[in-house]
This record gives sequence, C-alpha cells and structure tokens, in this order.
Amino acid sequence: MRSVLISGGGIAGLVLADSLRRQGFAVTIVERASKPRTTGQAVDIRGAALTAMDRLGYRAELESRRTRLKGMSWLNGAGVEQWRREDFVLSSGRLDSPDIEILRAELTEVLQAGLLRTDAAREDDGSELVFGDWITGLTDGPDGVDIQFAQTAPHRFDLVVGADGLYSGVRRLAFGPAERYLHHLGAYLGVFGGPNLIDLEDWQVWVQDPAATYVVYPTRDNSEVRVTVGFESPAMTVDYRDEPQHRQLVADRIARIPWQTDALRKTLEASADFQFGAMAQARLGSWSSGRVALIGDAASCPSPLTGQGTSVAIIQAYVLAQELARNAAATDGHTVAYRRYEERLRGFVDLNQALIGPEGQPAEEGAVDKIKDAVDLDA
Ligand SMILES: Cc1cc2nc3c(=O)[nH]c(=O)nc-3n(C[C@H](O)[C@H](O)[C@H](O)COP(=O)(O)OP(=O)(O)OC[C@H]3O[C@@H](n4cnc5c(N)ncnc54)[C@H](O)[C@@H]3O)c2cc1C
Repeated sequence: MRSVLISGGGIAGLVLADSLRRQGFAVTIVERASKPRTTGQAVDIRGAALTAMDRLGYRAELESRRTRLKGMSWLNGAGVEQWRREDFVLSSGRLDSPDIEILRAELTEVLQAGLLRTDAAREDDGSELVFGDWITGLTDGPDGVDIQFAQTAPHRFDLVVGADGLYSGVRRLAFGPAERYLHHLGAYLGVFGGPNLIDLEDWQVWVQDPAATYVVYPTRDNSEVRVTVGFESPAMTVDYRDEPQHRQLVADRIARIPWQTDALRKTLEASADFQFGAMAQARLGSWSSGRVALIGDAASCPSPLTGQGTSVAIIQAYVLAQELARNAAATDGHTVAYRRYEERLRGFVDLNQALIGPEGQPAEEGAVDKIKDAVDLDA
C-alpha cells in the first residue's frame, strides 16, 4: 500500500485524504491547528466541485447545512441603502442556483466525519488526522520522502502533498519562499463572527466606505453574524501569525465607519474565531517537484475575490486522487499522475485566476457561472 502524507487538514487536504483512502492508499494528514478550526465565512461549492462532492457522497449532508439567505442590501458607510436584490447575493450568486454556500467550519466538519468514519462497509484503514503537528524538514529521495515533524518522530512516506493553504509550509520547503509565488492584490481581509447584535434576519448586507467594505450576514438561525472586513492597502510587513496585530488593523477600520460601529467593535472583541490574510493569488510554474505535489490555495489560490477557492481546491483534490489511483501500479506512477493532474487542471485554474481584473477588481456577476463546469472530471 502506498503511503501519502498530506500537510493541512483544510478543504483540499480532507477531500484528497478521503478520495485516496477509498482507493487503497494509506493516508496521514498533519494539521498545524491544535483542534478543528471553526473560523471562516461561508464558502461556495459550485459546478464540477458539486459533482465531485456528489460522487463522494457528501452532497445531501452539505445541502442540509447550506446558508439560507433571502437577499441583500448595498449600503454606504452611513448605512443608507443604495440598492437591494431578492434573487441574488453577492457572496454566492443567484439564490435559485443548485450551488451550495456553506460555512467553512461546517464543510470541514462534514469532511472530517466522512474521513474518520468506519463502518461495516468501510473498515478502519489506518487513515490518520493528526492535529497540532507540522512538517519541519523534507528530503525528497528516489525511494521516498523523509519527513521531520515538529512534534513526532521522523518518518518516510512514498508521496507528500501540500494542502496547507496560502502560506503553505510544504511549498516553502520544496519550492522556495512564499514571496516568489504570492501576488498581492492590493487588499487585506479580516473575518470574524459572534452574536447577532444588529438583528439581521436572513439578509446579507454590504457596506462600502472609503475605509473598508463589509460583508455581514446572519448564521445559525440568525443567532450569530459573520463579518468580513476588506480594505485596500499595499503589501504590509505583517507576520501572518500575529493575531493581536491583525485584530488591531481591523478594529482601526471599524472605528472609521459610522454604520453599526459599536456593535461590530463588540462582535470583534468577543470573537473567538478571527482570521486575517492578504488578498493574494498563488501562481507557480509547476504544481509538483519530485515526489511532492501541491493542491488548493497552496498551489493556485485564486483569492477570495473570485469566490472559487473552495471549488478549485475540491476539484484539484478529486482529480489528483483519481490520477494517483490510475497510475498506482506503475513504478514511477506518481510522476505520470502529477503531470496528468496538472495538464487536466491548468486551464481551469487559469480561468479562475483570470476572474478578477488586473487591479484586483472582483469577478463580474455571472462570470463564475460561465466557467464553473469548464473541467472534465472523467478525462
Ligand atoms: C481558518 C480559515 C478561514 C477561512 N475563511 C475563508 C473565508 O471566510 N472566505 C474565503 O473565501 N476563504 C476562506 N478561507 C480560505 C478557503 O478555505 C480556501 O480558499 C479554500 O477552501 C481552499 O482550501 P485549502 O484546503 O487549499 O486551504 P485552507 O482552507 O486554507 O486550509 C489549509 C489548512 O492547512 C493548515 N495549515 C496551514 N499551515 C500548515 C502547516 N505548515 N502544516 C500543517 N497544516 C497547516 C491550516 O490550518 C488549514 O487547516 C479560510 C481558510 C482558513 C484556514
């Protein structure tokens, strides 16, 4: 049985792990967070990604957990409504679409349960999901990849996949520093959630002010809200793990906008789940090197401006697993599998990355619908 180490237990890592274990691979995930992460906004599963989720048996569960908004308003910074829609919300698209918008935390919960489930039909195959550990050293050799971990003993794996997000550790070790691959799009994004102090009911609100743009909407039966604060800024030298600094940057923006200032400040202060990052795309000439491959944001983050990061990650995980399984019997099957994975998906990823304008303008309405199926899952 071939052993695969996946760095990162986010969307891409969990889908890849589940797809591989079904096809007889021995899979280990190392996830840096010490426990399952509950942070994040709603993310979207569209087109071919929805087909992949359907084939893996997740669709019904995801449907039952989808967000259920009834429309949106666009306000200026003083809270005056500029326009409203009841057929569409900017975060996910048309409300009558079969695509699924779901909180990122709920999606990872469903995928984790699927990966770790054992029952009569699926015996325990030894798949492991290890929290609180990460790769510190990686030596790629002819017979395997020797890995050092921060917490546990070194180990050799047949293959290693980096599914560890925009600031991927595997990419740094196997391909070089992030600066070589990340293209800043001139903005930052803070995401947090907490009690619904502004009484939003099934309704999304966008607020545009020179200081920042908000996206706010209720979750969990309107008991909580999720808030995204996006603001333009040239690349800053922030340590991407320095949460107090990130919180301060977001608090400064909230203080400058008149709409619901106190409520949003309190929500931020009370929020246990805070996430901050640059709006950036990852662009690499190749998604593999030797026995190491990258998927999801680590390989090709299209940026949250496209709303396609999750769908692209799911499709990459699904196709890479398919190619590894097809080529498992060959001596250097991974070389063929990695090449096919990239040949099949490069064009699709390019289309997704091109959704945003050269100066980071968000995708136009309907643009995602034109490309969400532009990939053949059975090629
Ligand atoms: C907490 C969180 C919140 C997010 N919120 C949003 C959002 O609100 N809106 C949006 O559009 N996108 C959001 N994203 C990004 C979105 O999830 C991705 O674009 C998309 O799902 C692609 O998934 P991915 O698996 O490639 O990356 P991610 O979902 O980023 O998952 C990467 C995983 O790798 C782990 N990790 C990171 N470094 C290491 C390391 N060195 N070793 C081991 N594990 C590591 C992370 O903890 C994470 O679990 C968020 C990501 C995270 C991690």
